[in-house]
Amino acid sequence: MPKKIPMRQCVGCREMKPKRELIRVVKSPEGEVSLDFKGKKPGRGAYLCPNPACLAHARKSRALERAFSAQLPQEVYEMLEQQMAEGDA
Ligand SMILES: [Zn+2]
Repeated sequence: MPKKIPMRQCVGCREMKPKRELIRVVKSPEGEVSLDFKGKKPGRGAYLCPNPACLAHARKSRALERAFSAQLPQEVYEMLEQQMAEGDA
């Protein structure tokens, strides 16, 4: 039997993809939003393709704000863009 692959929806392009191919964006219990490359941070998560276009789309459509029920300041998006460009350093 093939192992079932956990699928998640990218909040940018809205496509379902295997969880491990996506970047988890997490909002901590303290309200801090960051990228979670290891998938281990506590808090509420949303998923994005490792693709700046998906982040740009999510920003435009406010998908992350909806996912987290919170306002995301511009600095957060800039940080996400930077972290995405740098990858898992
Ligand atoms: Zn995507």
